[in-house]
Amino acid sequence: MKVYVEAYGCSQNIAETYMLANSMGEIVYTPDDADTLLIGTCVVIAHTEHRMLRRIRELKKYRKPVIVYGCLPSARRELLEPDIIPIPTWKFRENVNILGKEIVPMNGLFMWDAIATIPIANGCLGNCTYCITKIARGTLRSYPPDWILEKVKKAISQGAVEIRFSAQDTAAYGRDMGTSLPEMLEKILSLSGKFMVRIGMMEPREAYRILQPLIKVYGNPGVYKFLHIPVQSGNNEILRLMNRGYTRKEFEEIISRFRSEISDITISTDIIVGFPGEDNDAFEDTYKLVERVRPEILNITRFSPRPKTPAYKWKSPSTNKVKDWSARLSALHREIVREKLQSLVGKEMPVIVPSRGKKGRFLARTREYRPVILENAEIGKFYRVEIIDAGESHLKGRILQEENTMRENN
Ligand code: SF4
Repeated sequence: MKVYVEAYGCSQNIAETYMLANSMGEIVYTPDDADTLLIGTCVVIAHTEHRMLRRIRELKKYRKPVIVYGCLPSARRELLEPDIIPIPTWKFRENVNILGKEIVPMNGLFMWDAIATIPIANGCLGNCTYCITKIARGTLRSYPPDWILEKVKKAISQGAVEIRFSAQDTAAYGRDMGTSLPEMLEKILSLSGKFMVRIGMMEPREAYRILQPLIKVYGNPGVYKFLHIPVQSGNNEILRLMNRGYTRKEFEEIISRFRSEISDITISTDIIVGFPGEDNDAFEDTYKLVERVRPEILNITRFSPRPKTPAYKWKSPSTNKVKDWSARLSALHREIVREKLQSLVGKEMPVIVPSRGKKGRFLARTREYRPVILENAEIGKFYRVEIIDAGESHLKGRILQEENTMRENN
């Protein structure tokens, strides 16, 4: 079967969609060349949901079977017309009959250049009042450690040098099967081979619970020093209304504990601006938190009321206020990034090249997962580079020499 794929949303949803396509047949790159059209959907905010529905209407014009995977058929099935093939996320591990062919989506592998993205669990243990992902993906179901191990071995045998583990909450991994993220990672990191592991998004509530073993495994040379941990707000009352399950103090404790053992770790966090109940004082708490933590990556989202969630009918702050708050946070963040990247110009450091970049260049990564653009390089290789310039969100490097690996101990 020839499958045309479009995938949207988080790295988990994108990986699962391509794994589904991979297990269905040959991936082709235009709808005209395909027998079947597959779209991996996201509904995290209303704007994205509308985009998905519009794209499905456009794909239907090709008069070929349209398969709709992901969070739309899982949380908003009622929005889909009967002439599509809906595959909700909980079918990812099951035997699915698609157009007469029996397949198991999780048998596929998603690789792009030398990067393999491997989902390690579906769902989470949270009940955040704004979150439709909980409705789409439900309660935590971790994927077996042996299945993950086999996937990683397969990816390495196919040339992967970067393994990305994705989930709604990687820190909750294994809680439903008597293991844990650090335990699973130790097994992966004992594999021989030249690869780096990127640990995906985790929730502060779960990270706090396993903090010491988590920091220990982050210390392994095979793990990128990159921590993606959404805080969502710097105000405790808003965190309580969101039902996030931690306080600002606990969040900052996580960050300072990590930084005390891994000094130059890259912090990535998310903020929801305009949550019901937020006023100027609450926003100032968030602004000051960002000023203190200085995250290099900051994903700012305006609150989007989602159906079926507790916060759906709650009254939001005025649009003008929210616009102003978002603009102030974005400006602060631009300053934080500029300052950090500029401070690295002139420095030498090891990098790995897991993928191509734009305009025929290469996108290398430092140990802290900072993006370094290289003119000439080879995918899958390790180099020592000098940082010669800094852009708004990336560095530019010059290759000094090829290296054997990024990991000191191999
Ligand atoms: S932890 Fe909260 S925000 Fe994250 S997926 Fe679960 S319910 Fe949604």
